[in-house]
Amino acid sequence: MLIDSHAHLDSPRYADDREAMLRRAWQAGVGAVLAIGIGEGPADMHRTLDICRQFNARPECGAGIPKLYASAGVYPHNTAEIDDAVLARLDQLLSEPETIACGEIGLDYYHEGAPHETQREGLARLLEVAAERKRPILIHCRPKDGTADAWDELFDILDAHWPQTGLGGIMHCFGGGWEQARRSLDLGFLISFAGNLTYPKAQPLREVAARVPLDGVLVETDAPWLAPAPHRGKRNEPGYVSLTAQALAGLLGVEAGEIASATTKNFRRLFHIQADVGNW
Ligand SMILES: [Zn+2]
Repeated sequence: MLIDSHAHLDSPRYADDREAMLRRAWQAGVGAVLAIGIGEGPADMHRTLDICRQFNARPECGAGIPKLYASAGVYPHNTAEIDDAVLARLDQLLSEPETIACGEIGLDYYHEGAPHETQREGLARLLEVAAERKRPILIHCRPKDGTADAWDELFDILDAHWPQTGLGGIMHCFGGGWEQARRSLDLGFLISFAGNLTYPKAQPLREVAARVPLDGVLVETDAPWLAPAPHRGKRNEPGYVSLTAQALAGLLGVEAGEIASATTKNFRRLFHIQADVGNW
């Protein structure tokens, strides 16, 4: 069984076929999906939790459609919208049992969105809420090409706020170098690879992936974006996570089944999910 550790199931691009898409994921061996709750902005952080509840209540959950988990958070470019009301709503969402993670949160200096200072301050406030609710964090970090500012500043903030919580997290859609991978692992984070691992120009990323220990990896789709080859350019969906798992298996020199069992074990360890609880 595979777990897609990062998919935007609330995307309007699934409005017409969300159930069929989840059935295809199950057929492709995906037993669980962590659905990301950032919405189009803080006003709809709750949408993903609603979707999780809707599908988890079905008798097919874990027997025809994957078990769904939710996250909630404020995307770096929406950090200017953070106020006490947004933080209170986030806190409330994180208190729900289905909401196992806070994210995706972090720093994005690649696209010009919120000022960097606003992103850093916002991230620090979000970390406080996540720590209080004891939720691991899902980090999005994207520097400008050819720089590492975003990574350096991210690690400054994490070093100050996160190790003492003992909660760890996930470096989502990892795109850094070995130095950033090593620092992430040292901080107790899992490194999640997405479909871009399969792209022709991603050779540096493949070289990093080949060095990450099996107990530090996850796979994800980041659906509806970043469809792995041969679906690149099309809408992505959780069922395609098997293609990224296959690519990672090749890089690590193991069977695809080993990637499935290692990533599932890693995911359960991070979120304290018992293997014998639930039917997946
Ligand atoms: Zn994402």
